[in-house]
Amino acid sequence: MSFLFRFCLLWLCFGMLILRGEEPFDFDKNQGRLPKTIVPERYEVRLEPDLEHAVFAGDETVKLEVRQPVKQIVLHANGLEISGARLQGAQEVPLTAQLNAEEQTVTFALPSELPPGHYALAMHFTGKLTEQPRGLYIAPYQAKGVRGKMLATQMEAIDCRRMFPCWDEPAFRAEFVLQAVVPEKLRAVSNMPEVAGKSVGNGRREVTFAPTPKMASYLVALAVGEFEEVRDEVEGTQLAVLTTPGKREQAQYALESTKKILKFYHEYFGLKYPLPKLDQIAIPSTGAGAMENWGCIIYNDNALLYDPANSAQSMRERVFAVIAHEIAHQWFGNLVTMAWWDNLWLNEGFASWMGTKATDHFNPEWKVWLRAAGSKDGAMRLDARETTHPIQRPVPDDSRASEGFDEITYSKGQAVLRMLESWLGEESFRDGIRAYIHAHAYSNTTTADLWEALGKTSGKPVREFAAGWTEQPGFPVVTVSALPAGSAASVQLEQTHFTIHQANPAPLRWQIPVIYGPAGAPSRALLTLLKDPIEAGAMLEPDAAIKANIGDVGYYRVAYDATLTRRLLKAAPLLAEADRLNALNDAWALVQAGRTPAAECLDLMSALSDDRSPTVVQRIIDVLLAIDGLERSTANREGFHAWARDFLRPQFERLSWDAKPGESPLDASLRGSLISILGAFGNEEVTSSARARFAAYVHDPASLPGDLRGPVFAVVGHDADAVTWEQLHTAARKEDSFEQKRALYSALVSARNPALAAQTLSLSLTDELIAPDAARLVQRVAHDGEQPALAWDFAREHLEALFAKLPDMAANHYVPGIFEGFDEAARADELETFARRNLPPVAGTAVARAAENIRFQAEFKARVLPQIDTWWQARVRR
Ligand SMILES: [Zn+2]
Repeated sequence: MSFLFRFCLLWLCFGMLILRGEEPFDFDKNQGRLPKTIVPERYEVRLEPDLEHAVFAGDETVKLEVRQPVKQIVLHANGLEISGARLQGAQEVPLTAQLNAEEQTVTFALPSELPPGHYALAMHFTGKLTEQPRGLYIAPYQAKGVRGKMLATQMEAIDCRRMFPCWDEPAFRAEFVLQAVVPEKLRAVSNMPEVAGKSVGNGRREVTFAPTPKMASYLVALAVGEFEEVRDEVEGTQLAVLTTPGKREQAQYALESTKKILKFYHEYFGLKYPLPKLDQIAIPSTGAGAMENWGCIIYNDNALLYDPANSAQSMRERVFAVIAHEIAHQWFGNLVTMAWWDNLWLNEGFASWMGTKATDHFNPEWKVWLRAAGSKDGAMRLDARETTHPIQRPVPDDSRASEGFDEITYSKGQAVLRMLESWLGEESFRDGIRAYIHAHAYSNTTTADLWEALGKTSGKPVREFAAGWTEQPGFPVVTVSALPAGSAASVQLEQTHFTIHQANPAPLRWQIPVIYGPAGAPSRALLTLLKDPIEAGAMLEPDAAIKANIGDVGYYRVAYDATLTRRLLKAAPLLAEADRLNALNDAWALVQAGRTPAAECLDLMSALSDDRSPTVVQRIIDVLLAIDGLERSTANREGFHAWARDFLRPQFERLSWDAKPGESPLDASLRGSLISILGAFGNEEVTSSARARFAAYVHDPASLPGDLRGPVFAVVGHDADAVTWEQLHTAARKEDSFEQKRALYSALVSARNPALAAQTLSLSLTDELIAPDAARLVQRVAHDGEQPALAWDFAREHLEALFAKLPDMAANHYVPGIFEGFDEAARADELETFARRNLPPVAGTAVARAAENIRFQAEFKARVLPQIDTWWQARVRR
């Protein structure tokens, strides 16, 4: 309730176009719970973890500057017991810790007012270790078939306070000096290199790490385990990639990629990576895909390891892209840090954009910007809804910091930066970034600081341009219409707020850099900054087909009037790849928004049916899968499958089962998608061949190439019988590789047989998978297995056990995620009722989004499915 209310107020403000015009970073005015009268300067923390008893103890001394007279010291602590606290100044003052569990703080009242000056706060503390990836935690893994345990950390957003008491807000930068007492047979790795080590008896060793530069607490890292590693060096930085036992060979690709990426960033930022070393660790159970801890990046296995013999091409791309993203953070995020969580996008939007840029630079054949159109489209889908939020979203207190980690922050952030770069020019943009990094190194910033730097180097009004994109929610649609002969221009451009399923959208306006021109002639493209609601465009040939958002670099939709739509449909196959993809994405979104009939999108899809671009064909597959979702439980589904099999057959005949020498790596991924969809849609040839290949795999895994494993497992899993289910399950349990394990469990969740789906659900309560992956099986049975009712009944019965397996952030999305498998509006009501009674308020955003989506799906299905059925039924070959 409070969530919706606040949202309405925001809408009002944005409707009147009052953008808040954020101020540059100012420590004293910065948001946060802790008083700014005391700042930490240096933490010295000695930790003694005890893996066997799942506890840890620590001793800590914090050097402080007291800036104004104070009567108490307040800092963060969560789940810790604190004793023996004392303040060291001219004399030593014993202190008593008063813990506030709700605010996650500890307060030390002082016997008398403390004058400004430098002091040290010393304390002893103890805490518990769990397998929840927050703070210092136990990470279980499987190596050479044997189970092991290691320790790792995940601090972002607010969990450093679980490992030791600290000023756990991003603007309180300080030096961290860590010491860890660990079993002699284990390695300890942290942000900085080890500078001293000594035996302390009992088979244990005390390791001391060099002091970090002044940095935010959410970047502290520690990992303790039995590691293998590969090492190298680039431009004076020591590099290591560490793995659990037996996976060293799979780290080589990450090491090679890192060498390229680090050099690229040295050049781009004009500032060398500032730490002496960069360790990257692959562990099989992180809270996130990867965490950019300064000098010690921790990844999930399947974001860092690449096995040339068994991995799919998509892993090669993913590993490079994730490394490029995390290393970009070493500057953007670590060296220069957002002032508060409302500017999370500065970290994540930028790292996403920079990572994609670096990935594209080294691997042009992967066409990553074309694929980034997929994540942009995902962000636009959310951003068109009532439950969206501006890129810069208010975060009143840090218990809500984790809500910011979504597609708007990452993908809209990336897309807006790309659009801005294209408007300012690549060099001017880079110069602005260099100036920004130099000016704010080892400090914090707000978005205003970035606009300031880019405005200065480019001479353009960046702040005015950017405010519409970052401070208000949503985005525009630009409608291009042909003007009658005799007009001063041949086209007119009009902007309106693009929304889906919103009753009263606010009349927002943007500054839009519209690139448009004759279709298929990008060299004749024109750029105009559309600020007004309606503007006349240029004079072009009277009969030309027009394409706008050429190159797909803009974050907006484009609609065309009837005449231009007809012309563009004819010209579609001649458009550049990015423009064909962009036209398809816009066409489907316009259908969702109710702005055009479904036939317009389907006609375009049909005009592109023999397209040779793997990315365009993949998008066609995505639309067919979306339609299949609408057809679920209708009498027409079989007929639709038969039509779609015919429609896709020429594409599959072109690629067939086996890789061809010299083919594009993207064809390898497209082949997999075609096999999966044709199998799911009942193509006999594909299903029987997949079964034969799986039978061969069971005897000899090497017989099945990495690129075909996921698709073959998926097809076999889809209509598995009890014997096949058991074969998949046995193979899944045996696997050490996270990537292969995931592919096999993916097959188990897609089983359509309800008895087998129930068997898959029961695996979520076992410990054969790492905890979060086990819990997520239930969501996946709801979606991929098309059994939302079965999955929800199961989840409701075991909710406590399932929640215990999830990190907090994921727990908020868990129940809403299961419900999104439904498309009946009544289920949206059920979700809201359930959430009110059983879920914490912090799950409100996810609940509101899911409920909105379920209602939209129900409405969309009723509105559009009859049109879609009429369209394909008229095209069935008789
Ligand atoms: Zn990131």
